[in-house]
Amino acid sequence: GFKMGIVGLPNVGKSTLFNALTRTAAAQAANFPFCTIDPNVGDVAVPDARLDKLAEIAQSKQKIAARMTFVDIAGLVKGASKGEGLGNQFLANIRETDAIAHVLRCFEDGDVTHVEGRVNPVEDAEVIETELMIADMESIEKRLQGLQRKVRGGDKEAVQQERLLKDALAVLEDGRPARTVDVAEDDLRAWELLQLLTAKPILYVCNVDEGSAAEGNDHSAAVAAMAEAQGAAHVVISAQIEEEIAQLPEDDAGIFLEEMGLAEAGLDRLIRAGYALLSLETYFTVGPKEARAWTIPVGTSAPKAAGVIHGDFEKGFIRAETIAYDDFVTLGGEQPAKEAGKMRAEGKGYTVKDGDVMHFLFNT
Ligand code: GDP
Repeated sequence: GFKMGIVGLPNVGKSTLFNALTRTAAAQAANFPFCTIDPNVGDVAVPDARLDKLAEIAQSKQKIAARMTFVDIAGLVKGASKGEGLGNQFLANIRETDAIAHVLRCFEDGDVTHVEGRVNPVEDAEVIETELMIADMESIEKRLQGLQRKVRGGDKEAVQQERLLKDALAVLEDGRPARTVDVAEDDLRAWELLQLLTAKPILYVCNVDEGSAAEGNDHSAAVAAMAEAQGAAHVVISAQIEEEIAQLPEDDAGIFLEEMGLAEAGLDRLIRAGYALLSLETYFTVGPKEARAWTIPVGTSAPKAAGVIHGDFEKGFIRAETIAYDDFVTLGGEQPAKEAGKMRAEGKGYTVKDGDVMHFLFNT
């Protein structure tokens, strides 16, 4: 599954947000036991109204949403990477994530201490980024040393790694994050395996006061401008509102949102932004037993998409019977879609589209 790490300075609202995200009725719904592997790791059901619609049409007994994992990564402060350095566990936690949600304090509250003594989310973002950049530089230097023998021995992989690490080190020494390195198509896989902290895509989460949840405020506007300049994504959320919503039953949550002038819960927006950031999309399998959402990277082939369900589906892939979401819904289900000629037989070369309702045929 896909994993998003939540980082930020102390007292910006990380834990509040994490708790809200992982405790809402919606997050725990969809027939999956809420599993807390660790108090700081939460597995959340990805809200998707299309799944509800498909399950309703097919009268599926169960609805199984896609999952996304959030990890609350505390412990970043100014100077964290100096001295003892960032703890190994801490680094491992961030390395394992696919993207970073960087929570920024965009609320004024004299009762909540700001570690830097002032509210300035853009500077806070720089503080954290600097720590992560220092951590990357240190780990690159260590890794470059570790590679020397293999490089001298002509090991191709080591040579490629060394080249990529040096590219990363060059931009980092220039004061820029590793994500600004232009990586060639052929190097992408090896690049990802380096798991550099500042190479991960960033979603800035502006934690605003309750009154600014709908429109944002000057602080979140400053973050939005910064995000745009960096080509990063941002969302505006009030962690406090989300926490209140998390304690309500699903029906009441809707009414509460309406009263606050909000179209949808922050969880929904955050996850959607995460999907966009990671170029993820969804396909569905729908039957009387269950309707289920599956997450794939944009551009995934039919066999690879089948492999998300089970490796055997990919290995023995024959074809995929495919109905576009809109056809399935407009025509009123699989049978009518089939009769209208809207069920397509797609082969190995087919690129799955967001919303496709799929049925895989495979050899065992
Ligand atoms: P963390 O250290 O980043 O995990 O921050 P916490 O989630 O523990 O929040 C720190 C303090 O800020 C707590 O007392 C929260 O209740 C408070 N807090 C979090 N979000 C908001 C907010 O949107 N507005 C206000 N006024 N306080 C908040």
